[in-house]
Amino acid sequence: MDCLFCKIVEGTIPSTKVYESDSVLAFRDIAPAAPVHILIIPKKHIATMNDVTGEDDAVMAELFKAAREIAKEQGIAESGYRLINNVNADGGQVVYHLHVHLLGGKNVGPLLA
Ligand code: 5GP
Ligand code: ZN
Repeated sequence: MDCLFCKIVEGTIPSTKVYESDSVLAFRDIAPAAPVHILIIPKKHIATMNDVTGEDDAVMAELFKAAREIAKEQGIAESGYRLINNVNADGGQVVYHLHVHLLGGKNVGPLLA
């Protein structure tokens, strides 16, 4: 499958990993929009949030658990952070493998700034 993030999961495209479990991987965004900008993805290919099914309950729970743990590990849990999931064209999705952006390390400002 021609999917950038599946290739990152396979290791055929390098990434700076910050967290890994059986079902979830997190790595630094190549074009960080904040001092901390990490992408958290299911290892399984799911194209968008619209494609999540009940079978993915466990992996989605794992993904948000990863977000909490990474925020803590990066030292931004208390100062604060933002989680973003872009869906399809109007949502600004560019890579069609579901990912949650974790942004922090500065005040990331109003939502639509
Ligand atoms: P989207 O707009 O789909 O929500 O975000 C895709 C994100 O993937 C962007 O923030 C972009 O900088 C990041 N990205 C694109 N290509 C690569 C890559 O090869 N490696 C990494 N680590 N991030 C990437
Ligand atoms: Zn994929």
